[in-house]
Amino acid sequence: MASEAVKVVVRCRPMNQRERELRCQPVVTVDCARGQCCIQNPGAADEPPKQFTFDGAYHVDHVTEQIYNEIAYPLVEGVTEGYNGTIFAYGQTGSGKSFTMQGLPDPPSQRGIIPRAFEHVFESVQCAENTKFLVRVSYLEIYNEDVRDLLGTDTKQKLELKEHPEKGVYVKGLSMHTVHSVAQCEHIMETGWKNRSVGYTLMNKDSSRSHSIFTISIEMSAVDERGKDHLRAGKLNLVDLAGSERQSKTGATGERLKEATKINLSLSALGNVISALVDGRCKHIPYRDSKLTRLLQDSLGGNTKTLMVACLSPADNNYDETLSTLRYANRAK
Ligand code: ADP
Repeated sequence: MASEAVKVVVRCRPMNQRERELRCQPVVTVDCARGQCCIQNPGAADEPPKQFTFDGAYHVDHVTEQIYNEIAYPLVEGVTEGYNGTIFAYGQTGSGKSFTMQGLPDPPSQRGIIPRAFEHVFESVQCAENTKFLVRVSYLEIYNEDVRDLLGTDTKQKLELKEHPEKGVYVKGLSMHTVHSVAQCEHIMETGWKNRSVGYTLMNKDSSRSHSIFTISIEMSAVDERGKDHLRAGKLNLVDLAGSERQSKTGATGERLKEATKINLSLSALGNVISALVDGRCKHIPYRDSKLTRLLQDSLGGNTKTLMVACLSPADNNYDETLSTLRYANRAK
């Protein structure tokens, strides 16, 4: 696979109020022109900063609009032409994953990648001539390695992964919803979002410990001058990963610790798949190691595009987590 198929960018958010109150010092610097990000170990001021280079590096002055236009736009455009694509946000809880993916309605420049992708898809649908589109969405959650339909009649029911010789890996019984507008997509996304399993950890009470995948499937049928039908299908996966923080910091025990271990397992399985794809020499891509990677198998690698936005906190007290996010992102490029 051409390595351009996987793009990795980093985004460092501004210091938050708590970090300011704690008088945290910034340890992350970003050089946008070079796509570089440096991190200084606060416990070893004499050590040189560790430097990483990515397909893009964004800091506090950059808005989601710019990230979308520069890096997500071509991927979504590909989906409207019949390719598969996947967009992830990775990082510890509170690093800006939802801010990047869902975003804020106001200012408009900070609207998230997801609503922008909805608009982009429907713009393409409206502008296309002589092509019929069928746009369908699904939304599922992987929690503790169990798969649930966030839009199903019974959101508690655990669904099975199946393999079909032509369809590939699919979720048996997952509901698919035909959509005709951006507003409908947003409404469905909101409904599903409310059905997510949200637990409580010391890091953040809204912290999400599940992975969710919102998929937009587009089927296109165009009739050429000779009256021949051409069918194409593209799929866009918008993946909201669970926080990447290690369990020691979250104070998890018992059930929570078990969950944390499974979260880390699927995140490391994802990291292994992406780095095997990027490496290009590996014959064996370890898709089967987690449900997340099995499900995304047809949208990672091959003829598909993948974008990972690694989200970072600038503060010294998050040094270890931020360094581990940078290392994870670095393996993926
Ligand atoms: P996560 O989804 O990774 O847990 P959030 O996206 O909820 O984190 O971000 C945590 C907080 O930081 C939110 O209040 C969010 O508005 C703010 N934030 C995150 N990224 C940025 C950014 N680039 N600019 C301004 N505020 C941000």
